[in-house]
Amino acid sequence: MSVKSAVLGYPRVGVNRAQKKATEAYWAGKISEQELQTASQAVRKERWEAIKAAGVDIIPSGDFTLYDGLLDHSFNFNVVPERFTKQGLSPLDTYFAMGRGRQDRAKGIDVAANEMGKFFDSNYHIVKVDHAPTTEFKLVRNQWLEEYKEAKDLGIETRPVLFGPITYLALVRASRDAPADFQPLDLLDKLVPVYVEVLKSLKEAGAQSVQLDEPILVTDKAEAYGDLYKKVYAELAAAELPITLTTAYGRVGKSLDYLKDLPIASLHLDLNREPQQLDAALEALKPTGKGIELGLISGRNIWKNDLAASKKLAEKAVAALGADKVVVSTSSSLLHTPISLKVETKLTPEQVAWLAFADEKCEEVATLAAALNGEENEAFQKNTKDIAARREFETTSDSAVRDRVQAITPEMSKRKSDFSVRSKVQAEAIKLPKFPTTTIGSFPQTKEIRVARAKFGKGELTKEQYEKAMEDEIKSVVDIQERLDLDLLVHGEPERNDMVQYFGELLNGFIFTQLGWVQSYGSRYVRPPIVVSDISRPAPMTVRWSSYAQSVSKKPMKGMLTGPVTILNWSFPRADVSKEVQAKQLALALRDEVIDLANAGISAIQVDEPAIREGLPLRKEDWDAYLNWAVESFRLSTSGVEDKTQIHSHFCYSDFDDIFPHIQALDADVISIEASKADLKLLDTFKEFGYKNDIGPGVYDIHSPRVPSEQEIKDKLAAFVKVIPAERLVVNPDCGLKTRAWKETEESLTNLVNAAKWARENL
Ligand code: GLN
Ligand code: ZN
Repeated sequence: MSVKSAVLGYPRVGVNRAQKKATEAYWAGKISEQELQTASQAVRKERWEAIKAAGVDIIPSGDFTLYDGLLDHSFNFNVVPERFTKQGLSPLDTYFAMGRGRQDRAKGIDVAANEMGKFFDSNYHIVKVDHAPTTEFKLVRNQWLEEYKEAKDLGIETRPVLFGPITYLALVRASRDAPADFQPLDLLDKLVPVYVEVLKSLKEAGAQSVQLDEPILVTDKAEAYGDLYKKVYAELAAAELPITLTTAYGRVGKSLDYLKDLPIASLHLDLNREPQQLDAALEALKPTGKGIELGLISGRNIWKNDLAASKKLAEKAVAALGADKVVVSTSSSLLHTPISLKVETKLTPEQVAWLAFADEKCEEVATLAAALNGEENEAFQKNTKDIAARREFETTSDSAVRDRVQAITPEMSKRKSDFSVRSKVQAEAIKLPKFPTTTIGSFPQTKEIRVARAKFGKGELTKEQYEKAMEDEIKSVVDIQERLDLDLLVHGEPERNDMVQYFGELLNGFIFTQLGWVQSYGSRYVRPPIVVSDISRPAPMTVRWSSYAQSVSKKPMKGMLTGPVTILNWSFPRADVSKEVQAKQLALALRDEVIDLANAGISAIQVDEPAIREGLPLRKEDWDAYLNWAVESFRLSTSGVEDKTQIHSHFCYSDFDDIFPHIQALDADVISIEASKADLKLLDTFKEFGYKNDIGPGVYDIHSPRVPSEQEIKDKLAAFVKVIPAERLVVNPDCGLKTRAWKETEESLTNLVNAAKWARENL
């Protein structure tokens, strides 16, 4: 009788990003479908072997995907909306079209992707396929059986992973033409037989158990789902395959009352984020004879686990339920972490010893299980030493930064005057017309810009040569904006590789990986910076670029910064200090930058917070705690300037109705928001809450190369003035233009400027 180890899922990117490269090569027509499948098979083999080599007992299968796991379920269940089936594409191309859309004018193919959505509070995006009352499910591809057998043929026993049926339906989308009261969960009765079919097939093939991921259980919705869970899991039990039900990303709360009685073999809990769930769970599970899977090793951060502390928690479980009822595991899939530390050659040995990526996390669960089974081996002892060294490092704080955070006063988060006063002072100082036009910051990042940056990185360009290249680009972008007759100009952000990494590299307190890629969506990966110590700004970061841009134009220039909450949410935060403290350290550093920009004569400064919404906790009762420090951090960063400086901010996701009052509380003079995709909903939000300061709802969607007509933009403006006073309206695209090409950018902005001119006369 012994404690076993498990991991819930593993990154899909492949060592050296082999999977990403193969997928993109297939899209580009450079390799065949067969070659893509062969490459994918090699990646799956490599993943299973890595997990096995780490000594993990329970290895996942079926969690691999070519694009997105939720999309795989829809596709396998034959939920393919008609607009895709009628394009005449192969099954694989239909699958990809569902994820990323497809346009091939010569062949008459033109189909938009399904909607993407953020996966819980992570930066990973799922593809939400449309479901309607008429949707029927049919298992057209049994991916889970295929992969289970594929691993078995390699001599590796695995535990297949699926989204549980309730989470699946809670995450997909209701089709636009479905009746208003329809929700995909209404389809549950039709869906469950397909799950039973999959589970039976797995049992028949020899699977010992199945992992059903039900993260919807950590949201506020879950309490109302009790009856659904009882009914559905009773039906699933008919397959007689033992089920481990997992609940990543938060706490199950009161739902434990019904979870404990479901006919499942064991319940997984996220004990990394919510360790206090353990006691109640043990008490509830003990009389039922069910097992527990302890999500102790974080699937969300990259810090080494304190195995001695985890062991103490796990020992409670062993004492309560017995060793054979306990599995030590990851808190979620490891898909949110990079693959391995071994490939990082630029981190110091000291830094490497603080961290654990996916492979190292696999070793951690195995080492923890061994320790619980009586063997505190070398790896366990090394962990104890490394954790002590990290704790020691944490005490070497930057006392100046800490003191500054301590000394923050409420006045520091308040502008000198109210918006009503400020807006008059700004109107005098900046002199913009009615319906002023502006952009969100970045202009097309051309190949030349990327080449110059890469050459500078490799030392092939001197600092002077690189800066000259950037200045030339800025001058050209400013000239184009003048020619287009935009009113409030920007420098175009050519010097930025990424809106977070750029600032991380210029601030103290961050480190960077070379290959720490984390999936954002499809084949898109990001490399989040890691906060390791107190954050401060050694020198101005953007002033030279904005000042240069202002020096070549008589029109007002808008400075451009990434806000404290977004920098933090798109980095791996440190684990020893609260996010609130880290956000405030960032806010103080940015506050200095805002003041320096204002002193350098920049009259408008935009502090982007596109990620403020995604950081919102999953449970409503936790919202205030987050929003309080998030709002304060933004205000702290922007309130150090005189009334005449116009503070802008930008938000990317249209579904922030929930936090609209908090957006108002940021008290930015002007905000711009992504609106073009969700017009109607947004207009309702304005009607309901109003907005007191200036606002620029995006007038066209920059995520597509499509050029909006002048008339379309006029119509938008006419609709906006019905809910927002004309003198408060700003005219801008819905996000930065860095992913666009110049041609469509110039055409779109020409139409935008013409529509604004028309509005000045007619609205
Ligand atoms: N200023 C940034 C840009 O224009 C904002 C990007 C974003 O919102 N994600 O690129
Ligand atoms: Zn944006």
